[in-house]
Amino acid sequence: MSGTSELKIYNSLTSRKELFKPLQKNNVGIYVCGPTVYNKVHLGNCRTFISFDLIVRYLRHLGYNVRYVRNITDVGHLEDDSDDGEDRIAKKARLENIEPMEVVKKYSDDFHKTLRKFKVLPPNIEPTATGHIIEQIELIKKLIDSGFAYEVNGSVYFDIKKYCESYEYGILSNRKLEELLKNTRDLSGQSEKKEPFDFALWKKASKNHIMKWNSPWGQGFPGWHIECTAMSLKYLGNQFDIHGGGIDLKFPHHECEIAQGTALNSVPPVKTWMHTNMLTLNGKKMAKSTGNNILPEELFSGTNKNISEAFSPVVTRFFMMQAHYRNQLDISQDALNASKKGYQRLIKGYKFIDNLSSNYIGKSIFDVNEAISKFYYAMNDDFNTPVLIKELFEALKRIKGLSINKDFINKDDLKKLQNTFRVFLFDILGFEVVEDKNDTDEYLNKTVSLLIELRENARKNNDFKKADEIRENLLSIGIILKDNKNGTRFELK
Ligand code: AMP
Ligand code: ZN
Repeated sequence: MSGTSELKIYNSLTSRKELFKPLQKNNVGIYVCGPTVYNKVHLGNCRTFISFDLIVRYLRHLGYNVRYVRNITDVGHLEDDSDDGEDRIAKKARLENIEPMEVVKKYSDDFHKTLRKFKVLPPNIEPTATGHIIEQIELIKKLIDSGFAYEVNGSVYFDIKKYCESYEYGILSNRKLEELLKNTRDLSGQSEKKEPFDFALWKKASKNHIMKWNSPWGQGFPGWHIECTAMSLKYLGNQFDIHGGGIDLKFPHHECEIAQGTALNSVPPVKTWMHTNMLTLNGKKMAKSTGNNILPEELFSGTNKNISEAFSPVVTRFFMMQAHYRNQLDISQDALNASKKGYQRLIKGYKFIDNLSSNYIGKSIFDVNEAISKFYYAMNDDFNTPVLIKELFEALKRIKGLSINKDFINKDDLKKLQNTFRVFLFDILGFEVVEDKNDTDEYLNKTVSLLIELRENARKNNDFKKADEIRENLLSIGIILKDNKNGTRFELK
């Protein structure tokens, strides 16, 4: 099915493309860090989830039985990367004067609604951090029992020096312990830790902290990293195939997940680490915290100050697919306009192929299998969508050129090609055929204006029969011409 090549995936852990072999034949377990639901997701977040949607869609297309787990972080994400500061969700609840769980519901709903617009398929399991407090406490207890964690004043920290006696810390982000020691500032409030680079597994809650739970160490709340370890290991096993997220999560989040999982089970938790690169705006990372971001709804309605034209979800998805997921991508009005044109050309080409028919049973001039194997080759090369799109256009160009010969393709080959186009465009890339309303309006305006002009000319030449004919024919299809002293305008019935 996948042509002649086999799937290779770039593993951030080894910095190499590796032949993909699932741990269990035909079954693939994949975990992707989901959003922290204290705000609306921006287009940068969407890029990461759209990339993993493509990856999961392709794995399923290859015949794998995929269990896709993507969590919702609804607690524990602190204001800064140190272990102190206010929980972002609690802060939002305070600002909006609502319950933290109302914040969570509001922004989880918004997240789901947005991803549906982008044709992102839901994961198989979408666990929440607050729904897995017991599991997190269990893991922390186990880490304390095996000596990899210690308790101080109602908080629990992961002991990195202890971990380094048996394992290596920093293998994902290539950081050395000495370097970490040099770079870790001794922020106030961290002094209870043995070492500044130790990270929190559990934090003691102050009196006025809202989101807190009972634990063996008193009332508190979990650290950020332990939630993903608890949920991924619970649903995918102690070792699973793929763990993904944006490249900004490599350190410290994913590095800490590796340490936690390895300390717990003596095996690294993940075989292949996949990281998507950032969507940028004006060359800078799109981020909630800096305000350098675009919300999807602003893009769809053309109300963002950076991009004033409206672009549909599918054009935005196409724009993202034109870049490889590991490359940075800068969003701009010009780039989106180019993508809009490209997408229209692609869909036009697809419709052209889809409408072709053939009764020919001889040999095709067009080598369908060669074209198809190029599509697979691109996708098997670490999900290379820009190359895939280039190959799709290449095939369209050739078919257009050859189709002037009547018998250029036999009927079986044509069917195969039509089917493959459908599968790649809609099942794998997640595109759809939508009539762009703005464009339709524009074309309608232009066409009716042209007819009004022709009617005007006919009247000037005293050809009233022609003028009436134009008016009546337009009326018969629901377009009413209204004459007034300033000229003629039209209305739809
Ligand atoms: P957060 O809600 O901030 O934890 O982010 C959710 C996901 O979006 C994570 O996988 C991040 O790595 C990813 N992400 C955040 N900003 C960007 C960006 N500008 N471009 C691509 N992915 C991003
Ligand atoms: Zn995570």
